[in-house]
Amino acid sequence: MAVCKSYIKKKYKGILYIVPTPIGNLSDITYRAVEILKNVHIIAAENIHHTTILLNHFDIKNYIIAMNKHNEKKQSNYLIEQLKKGKNIALVSNAGTPVINDPGYFLVVECHLNDIQITPLPGACAAITAIVASGISAKRFCYEGFLPSKKKERCNLLKSLRKEERTLIFYETKHRILESIQDIIEEIDDNRYITLAKEITKKWEFIYKEKAKIILEWVQHNKNSYKGETVIIIEGFKPPKYKLISQKEINTFNILRAFLTLKQSVYITSQIHKTKKNNLYQYAIKKEEK
Ligand code: SAM
Repeated sequence: MAVCKSYIKKKYKGILYIVPTPIGNLSDITYRAVEILKNVHIIAAENIHHTTILLNHFDIKNYIIAMNKHNEKKQSNYLIEQLKKGKNIALVSNAGTPVINDPGYFLVVECHLNDIQITPLPGACAAITAIVASGISAKRFCYEGFLPSKKKERCNLLKSLRKEERTLIFYETKHRILESIQDIIEEIDDNRYITLAKEITKKWEFIYKEKAKIILEWVQHNKNSYKGETVIIIEGFKPPKYKLISQKEINTFNILRAFLTLKQSVYITSQIHKTKKNNLYQYAIKKEEK
């Protein structure tokens, strides 16, 4: 009988804990996270200074080493050795969940390769905190991280996501917010709903949902829009409800419509082309609404 691999005991005793930390409000940390940060042998932090502030707040004294995007591979080798020796390690980033646009992925992969147990803790993540308050569907969504800094790459990415039906989540830096909203309008749509979730859990928390064109006006006229950390949520593409209609049907309909009512034109077109009139009817209504 095949044995489920996840039930096989790990070879080494050491555990890598992935520990989310607050994204603004220092109280947004779990009891379990505080306990783990107190009791592990090593804390691997994106920035020692940043994490020391958090540890001081909770009166935690522990051994911290830096693991950031510049030394991740080298430090991962060291941490894997320590885990193999039975040491427990907590991975933290400056804010939110490690690995989510923060260091840690390489270390997690190495843990899998070396048969080391990984224990993730649930906790703060800007993307998830933002989407639940966005007023835009969280039923299906895709997280895209930061939009590219170069305009051409940013526009290409946005263009490729124009027909994405899931809600889109982006992280954004304050100095690029205007350009990004302009590109979203150019490449996606000016009529889609967007939510800006700024400074979540902080003093100047601000969550604003509007059509893209109104968001653009707001960004252009509010110097506060350039301040703080931002998550951008974009409503997914909504495909038109009617099925595809052939160009021949459309041509016939257009000729008839010049002389007849909408209903008569739809009826005669569907008789000529032997198609269902419902599809054409919906198409025609949509067209005349524009
Ligand atoms: N690992 C983090 C997480 O779990 O959310 C994300 C780190 S990423 C380097 C930083 C970006 O997250 C910011 O530029 C911003 O887009 C978003 N972010 C972080 N904290 C935020 C907050 N309090 N309010 C809004 N956005 C935030």
